[in-house]
Amino acid sequence: MAEVKGTAVGKSQVKRFYIPGLSVSDTCPACGNTVVHDLSKDPHYIGYPTFGEEFDYGFYCPEDGYGKHCGQSWSVRMKLVVTLEMIDGN
Ligand SMILES: [Zn+2]
Repeated sequence: MAEVKGTAVGKSQVKRFYIPGLSVSDTCPACGNTVVHDLSKDPHYIGYPTFGEEFDYGFYCPEDGYGKHCGQSWSVRMKLVVTLEMIDGN
């Protein structure tokens, strides 16, 4: 019988780990703007992710020259959990 065993752990060797379909957002602590990162597009990849362990993910409030963004940077804690599903295992 075909099956998937174990849990994804350890450091990936992928320099730029893009995740199409996912985006993350947070409110800028300085100006209140909502900052959205599409994880399928540069530069919002996760570099050399470690599966199943918490890490700091950085946000940056881009300066647009009109006073609506402020250049603030901050980070949030995240964890990348990878699962593999067996669809037709028999
Ligand atoms: Zn801001």
